[in-house]
Amino acid sequence: MNVCIVGTGYVGLVSAACFAEMGNNIYCVDVNPKVVETLESGKVHIYEPGLEDLVKRNTEQGRLNFTTDLGEGLDNAEVVFITVGTPQREDGSCDLKYVDAVAAEIGRKMTSPKIVVDKSTVPVGTADRVRGIIAGELEKRGESIYFDVVSNPEFLKEGDALNDFMKPDRVIVGTGDENSATTIKTLYAPFARSREKLIVMGVRSAEMTKYAANCMLATKISFINEVANICERVGADVSEVRVGIGSDSRIGYSFIYPGVGYGGSCFPKDVKALIDTAAEYGYDARLIRSVDEVNNTQKLVLAEKIKAYFEPQGGVAGKTLALWGIAFKANTDDIREASAVQVIKALTSLGMKVRAFDPVANTRAREEIGHIENLEIMDSQYDVLDGADALAVVTDWNQFRNPDFERIKRALAAPLVFDGRNLYLPERMGKAGFAYFSIGRTPVE
Ligand code: NAD
Repeated sequence: MNVCIVGTGYVGLVSAACFAEMGNNIYCVDVNPKVVETLESGKVHIYEPGLEDLVKRNTEQGRLNFTTDLGEGLDNAEVVFITVGTPQREDGSCDLKYVDAVAAEIGRKMTSPKIVVDKSTVPVGTADRVRGIIAGELEKRGESIYFDVVSNPEFLKEGDALNDFMKPDRVIVGTGDENSATTIKTLYAPFARSREKLIVMGVRSAEMTKYAANCMLATKISFINEVANICERVGADVSEVRVGIGSDSRIGYSFIYPGVGYGGSCFPKDVKALIDTAAEYGYDARLIRSVDEVNNTQKLVLAEKIKAYFEPQGGVAGKTLALWGIAFKANTDDIREASAVQVIKALTSLGMKVRAFDPVANTRAREEIGHIENLEIMDSQYDVLDGADALAVVTDWNQFRNPDFERIKRALAAPLVFDGRNLYLPERMGKAGFAYFSIGRTPVE
């Protein structure tokens, strides 16, 4: 099949590479010429395990093409995916300016029938909006060319995106048109061999499914974080409670790891966008609002523990913190809405010096937060420790799970660790001579 994918970020490029891998011809369009240049040279501008090899192979074999010209992409495709960003506005609502811009350009440039597929995460009603924009542009041109707009939300996770795309739990196809459904199902058939995985539904239900899924996952995270905060106060251990509740198959173990709250480019904005959509329709989404509120507090919980610890010593000003992990989670270089960034901002603004290290997000972090006063981003996991007053672990990268504790102790000015991901056992930390503070567990002092 000939497919055009507009927007080559985490979702667009992964989709493009995976569709190409199945033998389809893909035209990737991005407005950013630097991105297109990088991709044409066989390199990838984002970090996603396995992606560069897949892109390189499919580019060399001629199935992946990159351009800044949407007209070229459209001429070569019967299906057009919109995979541009849908950031959050200041008021929490979803900003559709990139989606609108692509829709308008499609309307201006299409010369043959198209199935336009919205894969970006967009509020309910956006497919109708896209349909209206394309129809408006065609009308201006005095053209009448058939097109349909389908919703096909994406559920991949950064860090494991190829696996998620290649072996999805489900593929949601939102359309009332049988021919469009058949085309999109055919495109996805190699990834969803068992037919139950291809779920066709109404457009609005498909749009809503994406938000409902992300809000459910965010709810699980805020729920366990709230339980962790209560555990700390009543002398219970959230790690034990987690196992205790997860063993109930109605609850399950996934997504109930306590920590520093959720971040990234999806959960925070999608939770806020659903609250906003509900409000627009006159409904107060109280539960989802609380999920957001709990998360906002949780993102600062580690900073609060650090501030409380240093309070008797005159506060954090002038102290130095070594910080491991800037990305919002392991296996990605994405630092959008990362808890580490909040922790860094909260502490450096009080005069604490923070020396941060991330295995892959350092470059992105230097670009986006490198200007923060009192922050130094360093390239060695152990160099950040030298003479620091404490270590804070904020991202759950594997290489932080079993570090050289003797070396950490020797390097720090005092053996003090704040663990925002519960990577270590309190007992072991105590035996190794550390003061140790984690989430929802009794501190070792
Ligand atoms: P991204 O910011 O990584 O990539 C978006 C790309 O679109 C950029 O390269 C940008 O240059 C390009 N772009 C913007 N306007 C354009 C235009 N007019 N024409 C062509 N290209 C244009 O975004 P992302 O993380 O891939 O997210 C895309 C969408 O998918 C969002 O709606 C997001 O919520 C959703 N989503 C993201 C994830 C994820 O894990 N990142 C998962 C599921 C869904």
